[in-house]
Amino acid sequence: MRITVLAGGIGGARFLRGLKAAVGPADEITVIGNTGDDIHLFGLKVCPDLDTVMYTLGGGIHEEQGWGRAEETWSVKEELAAYGVGPSWFGLGDRDFATHIVRTQMLGAGYPLSAVTEALCDRWQPGVRLLPMTDDRVETHVVIEDPEQGGKRRAVHFQEYWVKLHAAVPAEAILPVGAETAKPAPGVVEAVAEADVILFPPSNPIVSIGTILAVPGVREALVAAQAPIVGLSPIVGGAPVRGMADKVLEAVGVESSAAAVAKHYGSDLLDGWLVHTGDEASVAEVEAAGIICRAVPLLMTDVDTTAAMARQALELAEQVRG
Ligand code: GDP
Ligand code: CA
Repeated sequence: MRITVLAGGIGGARFLRGLKAAVGPADEITVIGNTGDDIHLFGLKVCPDLDTVMYTLGGGIHEEQGWGRAEETWSVKEELAAYGVGPSWFGLGDRDFATHIVRTQMLGAGYPLSAVTEALCDRWQPGVRLLPMTDDRVETHVVIEDPEQGGKRRAVHFQEYWVKLHAAVPAEAILPVGAETAKPAPGVVEAVAEADVILFPPSNPIVSIGTILAVPGVREALVAAQAPIVGLSPIVGGAPVRGMADKVLEAVGVESSAAAVAKHYGSDLLDGWLVHTGDEASVAEVEAAGIICRAVPLLMTDVDTTAAMARQALELAEQVRG
């Protein structure tokens, strides 16, 4: 079976770990990763979501934190701070720095991001084919009314909004800058067209999966795909399980509920949708929108429970196909 998954960072990566445990050795998983969170820091190209997937599946992730490297040290960051060189709000550890140095060096030598990602994965062996959504530069920006500048409207990089401001300032709009002229990376459209099953993990529907969908050609490929598309809700009991997805949902006028997210994707994309057992009441609303819906446990507390979620998603896909 060929399974194609659109993924952000932590939610996507944790789901993928369960999916890997749920499938057989002959099944192939292709991941289309969000690169809208990418940022240039200290002259280096940082790809937070691709790295979270790569480290999580490759056994290098900091488990509790969910991002960055295990057994990390912070000497470079301290030295940069001693020079007064920031930003200090973005956590780049020594081990992590090496990844960004290798990536930046290869990009500088002329390799596209997709080739660089493949080279980094040679080391990590994530057990999936990890493709950036695009080789072109796309950066999600968030329009805020900056409290530090007397409420002046300005666009900040998504990382500044999320990591520095903790999404505490209301987001007025989410802009995937550069997406409109970006092309899907090599293999992305094929991975959608040739898939037997397509999954949307419980990733952020706006700034993770929404950004991937903003690359021209990706949404069209999904709508045209033969394979069933099944998603899992990142919203449980009316709130994100982790993070601040409710803030970016609000910015685009979508309520923080499992049903509203399903309807935001819509029935031209989704064939099936899984909501958490506590959200059974929303099943009818989702089905009224033309999307088959089931309520199953959706908390990724460990690999076994996550694998069970993945099996439920694959079963629902099978049902859609039937
Ligand atoms: P990010 O790029 O690191 O923010 O990660 P993603 O976009 O891939 O995933 C973020 C989403 O994962 C958040 O909206 C969370 O609500 C969701 N999430 C995290 N843990 C869980 C979980 O155990 N169950 C479900 N259903 N969603 C989760
Ligand atoms: Ca992300």
